[in-house]
Amino acid sequence: MRKIKLLLLLIVFILFNSYVIQKGIYINNSIKENKYSKKLNKEIMLKKKVSSGIKDNVLLDSSIAITDNLINDVNIDIEKKEKEKDKLDEKLLAMKKQPIINDYKTAYLTFDDGPSWLTPEILDILKKHNAHATFFVVNAVDNYKDVLNRMVNEGHTIGLHSATHKYDYIYSSEQAYFDDLNRIKDSVKRLTGYNSTLIRFPGGSSNTVSAKYNKGIMSRLTKEVQVRGFYYHDWNVDSGDAAGANADRMISNIERVPSDKKYVNVLMHDAGSKRQTVLALDRIITYYEQNGYHLEALKESSPCVRHAVNN
Ligand SMILES: [Zn+2]
Repeated sequence: MRKIKLLLLLIVFILFNSYVIQKGIYINNSIKENKYSKKLNKEIMLKKKVSSGIKDNVLLDSSIAITDNLINDVNIDIEKKEKEKDKLDEKLLAMKKQPIINDYKTAYLTFDDGPSWLTPEILDILKKHNAHATFFVVNAVDNYKDVLNRMVNEGHTIGLHSATHKYDYIYSSEQAYFDDLNRIKDSVKRLTGYNSTLIRFPGGSSNTVSAKYNKGIMSRLTKEVQVRGFYYHDWNVDSGDAAGANADRMISNIERVPSDKKYVNVLMHDAGSKRQTVLALDRIITYYEQNGYHLEALKESSPCVRHAVNN
């Protein structure tokens, strides 16, 4: 009996133990699982944070992009507005300086590069015809004070050509151009009291030689001179005296231009070497008179003949 009791106790003990052991494993596993799940949760949380961080970054990036676009749009808008303003300024300028076109045909005779010893003869011929002209001067010096004053007193106008007439200097920069222009303007003012605003660019506004010294300078100068209150004139009839045409050739050059033009601006020179111009002048004036032209001096209100700018 004792043996049976002991055996039963042993069996009960073994069963109990195996139960406890199993439970222990379960508890242990449970703890392990719990730890694992906590770790997993932490990772999930971290991943979530990172992913929301990425989301935040994406959001930040896209909001920077939107801001950039807005700034870009505003810049484009400002550029557009500035361009519109420039156009408006040009229109206003054009409106303000709307030329008065005579209801008769007008010939504007112009003489560049003087005065010289030949200029008094030219003034005499003009006087004889009661014709008026414009002198785009370079020699506004004391020696020609009387000639310059005679121009003004006899109803001609003095235009500004250049103080130096040196292309490599005047077209080297805007500063140089205006320094030169103001020099000749001040000299004319000092010698005659006449405040000239009419100009002719050396070589004309269409010259290409200036590109050698400063690319695009004519495009800028042709605008800037107007902003500063000057009126620039090119020509639509070239007598050819600059290229050495004799008097006969000058006449034929002039006659080649159709005589039904409403106004002509005739390029001539009264520099000291232009004797042929003096010899041709009487016939040139007669030609225009016979074709119904009035010979007038350029004024601020006169139409400006202008070439296409090439630099
Ligand atoms: Zn010249």
